Amino acid sequence: MANQLTQTWHQSHPGAPAPTGEAPILIARELSRHYQVSRGFLRGHATVKALNSVSFELAAHRTLAVVGESGCGKSTLARQLTMVETPSAGSLNIAGVEVATADKTTLRGLRPRVQMVFQNPYASLNPRKKVGTQLEEPLLLNTSLDAKAREAKVRDMMRRVGLRPEHYHRYPHMFSGGQRQRIAVARAMILNPAVLVADEPTSALDVSIQAQILNLFMDLQEEFGTAYVFVSHNLAVVEHVADDVMVMYFGSTVEYGANAAVFDNPLHPYTRALMQATPAIRHEDRQTRVKLTGELPSPINPPGGCSFHTRCPYAQARCKAEVPLLRPFAGRQIACHRVEEISAGTASPNT
Ligand code: SF4
Repeated sequence: MANQLTQTWHQSHPGAPAPTGEAPILIARELSRHYQVSRGFLRGHATVKALNSVSFELAAHRTLAVVGESGCGKSTLARQLTMVETPSAGSLNIAGVEVATADKTTLRGLRPRVQMVFQNPYASLNPRKKVGTQLEEPLLLNTSLDAKAREAKVRDMMRRVGLRPEHYHRYPHMFSGGQRQRIAVARAMILNPAVLVADEPTSALDVSIQAQILNLFMDLQEEFGTAYVFVSHNLAVVEHVADDVMVMYFGSTVEYGANAAVFDNPLHPYTRALMQATPAIRHEDRQTRVKLTGELPSPINPPGGCSFHTRCPYAQARCKAEVPLLRPFAGRQIACHRVEEISAGTASPNT
């Protein structure tokens, strides 16, 4: 089933990252999420398109990074992937299950297979419950293990994430920020999920701790083969962990490709601007001379044409009138009318 889906997906999405040989565990096609919001008293409603036709696939052992500023649709995408919300349109296939058409029993069995790690580890843990009890809860709800086996599994997982098993009876406030994030990772991994969605998992941590948590993610992926969707605004982190990168702006994918293609030669002006704003990855040989100015446009009153035209130094009349389609170019998918000129270095920015 998944192979059939992959074949069809690649026929309609040339330029996307090359298949790994493994069948994808997660396939999103034209995934959209729109919300109705009130414009105010007597002014009716507006539709906010938080996510627009986002497509990708992800195999076990692989990491897809989803990057962009806050408000670009990353977290909305994470909520669709974890089945917290239902997409307004499109399809989502997880481990061979078509989420939109699956019955309740199938969905109940699927939910534990997709887990999430949040930005703030303290907020995601119950301060009144012992860590061991919190780590046991997913096992209690989803397995038939008895109390002794659950405790043994929890202690084993604590060891694997770098915590001391004898701290089983401690409360969350007795741990440091980095240790609390290890607890959150342990809880997400204890059911051996097929997919882990990590939403800014290191941004609340000290820089010195961030690298340790990233290495933990990578070690666990090697051990369990979990597919990761890594949502982040930090491109330095993304470059370190991702196999594939999807850059989002205003709810849509603007550039999507393998890590090396996107980081070595970013082509979309927005990707270049993000890289320009990340000193840790600003190298001379990277074409990153686009300065990001202004704010994201209002989602209630979106700009016509290319949604980036209000901030893009290369914007022309066509950009304001015509939505650029996501299309294959130079080993990735990209949505920009002027990518050929930008790639060739013949597009001069408006000054
Ligand atoms: Fe800039 Fe136009 Fe490309 Fe949009 S389509 S990114 S406005 S050059």
